[in-house]
Amino acid sequence: MYIVMVASECAPVAKVGGLGDVVAGLSRELEIRGHAVEIILPKYDCMRYDHIWGLQVSHRDLWVPWFNYRVHCTVWFGFVHGRKCFFIEPHSSDNFFNRGTYYGFPDEHMRFAFFSKAALEFLYQTGKRPDVIHTHDWQTGLVPVMLYEMYQHAGMGDCRACHTIHNFKHQGIAGKNVLWATGLNRPEYYYDRERMGDDFNPTAINFLKGAIVYSNFVTTVSPTHAWEVRHSDWGHGLGHTLWKHQSKFSGVLNGLDYDMWNPQADPHIPFHYDAGNLDGKYGDKQALRQRLWLREAYKPIVAYVGRLDPQKGVPLIRHALFHSLAKNAQFVLLGSSPEPGIDAEFRSLKHQFNDNPDCHLEIGYDENLAHLIYAGADMLVVPSLFEPCGLAQMIGLRYGAVPIVRSVGGLADTVFDRDYSDRAVEARNGYVFHQADRQGIESALDRAIGLWFDYPDAFRELLANGMRYDYSWNRPGADYVNIYNYIRHK
Ligand code: ADP
Repeated sequence: MYIVMVASECAPVAKVGGLGDVVAGLSRELEIRGHAVEIILPKYDCMRYDHIWGLQVSHRDLWVPWFNYRVHCTVWFGFVHGRKCFFIEPHSSDNFFNRGTYYGFPDEHMRFAFFSKAALEFLYQTGKRPDVIHTHDWQTGLVPVMLYEMYQHAGMGDCRACHTIHNFKHQGIAGKNVLWATGLNRPEYYYDRERMGDDFNPTAINFLKGAIVYSNFVTTVSPTHAWEVRHSDWGHGLGHTLWKHQSKFSGVLNGLDYDMWNPQADPHIPFHYDAGNLDGKYGDKQALRQRLWLREAYKPIVAYVGRLDPQKGVPLIRHALFHSLAKNAQFVLLGSSPEPGIDAEFRSLKHQFNDNPDCHLEIGYDENLAHLIYAGADMLVVPSLFEPCGLAQMIGLRYGAVPIVRSVGGLADTVFDRDYSDRAVEARNGYVFHQADRQGIESALDRAIGLWFDYPDAFRELLANGMRYDYSWNRPGADYVNIYNYIRHK
């Protein structure tokens, strides 16, 4: 099959969050399975150009219709860790992608509407006819709309569209201007609620809604989140649309990059190990203590690694710290928050525990330390309020840091409670709690810390169960191939 990914991010060249990891990881897996994959991205000025190999002009003159004129673009080609990537560079006074950062501008809708249009024009004008165009999040939500309404009549009728929603919070709500610019025109037609009309604003279109309505298949990043967005507020107003289109909607769990996250060969950690031989993990635990000035003692290390965002259950993270210390465990936190209030709260906590030999808080982003924490910690708390997929718990499992998670989204799909899961004993891999309150997280922490102290052999077994799970791209890759085949032959 020939698959083209159209996205606003691709790790590591243009990455802000998990979207970039998915585009890169899934593309790689699809190629391993023998499919031809190309990725189309904007040519941002702030990309990591050091990760592009052989960057060269591929098409000097791509003219993209925009309002009642045409914008001159150059399309570049280069390899990003082996993947074939095209980068679209518009030459216009709008300066859409030369702004020093990826997101956060007042004309955001125009920027990505233009990118979506240019990506389709590029495919159309160069005669590329992919079997499937796979788009991601609101930024490329107009691609399926334009494919169906404009380009399929111009000879792209055999291309199918698959759209993945990583985040329902950002939907791309825009006005008529986008319709005039892209040539979709006809506001009265697109404002229809059966098409792109936003359900909460009669004079706005909703990019993400358009993607749901017009794609041949829509996915989100875990089966439980696929249920949540239809049945609760987590769909951010799109529940009804998803409900109507549920026959073409499902959740596919993201994979983890098993090359990057591999305790047997990770260059960031001093000792390597696997489920059959955990000696290296104990060496890493010691190294972690030395690095963070924690005392050497017969205690488990409970860790948190991640953004300190309200989504992540900040009060529960804080409570986990106090409760772990009260239960004679050590606690390590690595995280950062752009919100001044949360940042100040954790900086003050850091100050409070400065001299405590059982606790360390590191405020900031540190890739290297993150790897050492996953390797050295015995347990990892992930008490999210919502979590579409979540990578931290999968990394914890891979590195033998037993995850203690709240039962939401992808966390519920990947972690199975040692005491209460209905899975076979050897398939249980962590601790799960339900209520987002102190009692909830305490119940799970108490059981985990209790097992570590009282039944160390059983704890090691639980840890090894987790390490044996396969949360690589292997299975999600197969799932996406099935979806592509299904929509091609439907
Ligand atoms: P989200 O995408 O919502 O931030 P995920 O759990 O899906 O959460 O992915 C978070 C990823 O970012 C993990 O790989 C985690 O290790 C990494 N990460 C988050 N915060 C930090 C930090 N402060 N330092 C290093 N790595 C971090």
